[in-house]
Amino acid sequence: MKIIDVKAAYPKWTNLPTGVWQSHFWQIVVRVEADDGTVGYGYGGGGEPGCLIVNQHFRELLVGRTIESVDDIRAAWDYVYKLSLPYGRKGLQMMALSGVDLALWDLLGKSEDKPVHELLGGLRKPKVRAYASGDEFEKYRDIGYTANKFSPGRAGADDDVQKTAAAAQRSRSVFGDNALIMTDCYMAWDFETTKQMAEAVREFDLYWFEDILTPDHLEEQAALKEFVHPINIAGGEHEFTRFGFGQIAKENALDIWQPDLTWCGGITEALRILDIANTQKIPVVPHRGGEIWALHFIAATDCDDLAETHPARWDDSANELWLDEPRVEDGHLTPLDRPGFGVVLNERML
Ligand SMILES: [Mg+2]
Repeated sequence: MKIIDVKAAYPKWTNLPTGVWQSHFWQIVVRVEADDGTVGYGYGGGGEPGCLIVNQHFRELLVGRTIESVDDIRAAWDYVYKLSLPYGRKGLQMMALSGVDLALWDLLGKSEDKPVHELLGGLRKPKVRAYASGDEFEKYRDIGYTANKFSPGRAGADDDVQKTAAAAQRSRSVFGDNALIMTDCYMAWDFETTKQMAEAVREFDLYWFEDILTPDHLEEQAALKEFVHPINIAGGEHEFTRFGFGQIAKENALDIWQPDLTWCGGITEALRILDIANTQKIPVVPHRGGEIWALHFIAATDCDDLAETHPARWDDSANELWLDEPRVEDGHLTPLDRPGFGVVLNERML
C-alpha cells in the first residue's frame, strides 16, 4: 500500500488527562492513510509545533512511499530522520517522528490484520505486571497492584528527606515485603540530596530512584551509583534515539532505562535502543509503559515485565483520547488482540 496522506492534530486538551505526572504534556495525534483505505493512528509529542513539523515537512517526505513490511517502516524512519536532522535529532522533531512511526506500525498491523505485538514477533508475556504511580496506596493494593511508585519530598531540606522516608515506609507497609517500591523526584534532587535520600530509605528496600538529575548529568549519575546501590538509578524518559541511549551506555550512567515510546522515536527506534540495552545487560522499563503504545512493545520483547500506570487517569473516562485501552486487572495489563494497536481514537477530542 502507498501512503496518500499524513496529518497531525493537537487534541482539545480542555480537560487535561487527570493523574498524569504534570499538568500538561503536549501529546499529539498522527493519522496516516494508505491508498487501499487503511488508516493508522499514532501518538507523539511536541504540541502545535510538533503538528507543524508533521504537516509541513514529514507529510511531503512520506506521501507516495510504500509500506508493506517492518523494513519499509524502518526505511521511512531513516529517511525522515536524515532529512530533518539539520533542525532535529532530539526534542520536538523526534517527538513528532515518534507519532508518525507509531501510526505506521498501526497502519501495517491493520493492513495485515495483526496486532502490533504480532508484528514484533508475538507475545513473550501474555500479561504485564503493572505498577501504580501515585500515593493512594491502600486503593491500589485493594485493586490488585503489587508495585508502587510514590512521590518523594522534592527539595533537599530535612523535612523533604523525612517526607520521602515516611512515604517509603508507608508504601512498604501497605504493599508488603514482596512488592516493588520505587520513587521519582522528576530531576528535583541534586547530588548531595540523592545521597541523603538513599540513606534515609535504605531499610525499605526500594527498587529504583527515577530521574534524579537531568539528562545532561550522566557523569554525576554514574558517580552516584556507589552511594545509591543497591537501589537502582533509573531514567531516560527525556532521552531520544539510539544515539542518546548510546551515550548513556558509554557513561554507564543508568541501571535501568526508561525510553518513552511516544517521544524517543517510536517502536522502530525503541527496538534499536533495546538492542544496545541487551548488549549492556541493562533492564528496559519503558516510561508510561501501561499506555497501549508501549504495552505491545513490552509484551512482545525482552523488556522487563513491568508497566507504569496512573490509576487516577481512569477516574475521568469522559475525556479519554484513546478508547478501549486495557485497564489493570489483578495488578496486570493485557495488550489488545486486535489489528494494529487496537485502540479507537475518540474523535470528539480533536
Ligand atoms: Mg518519570
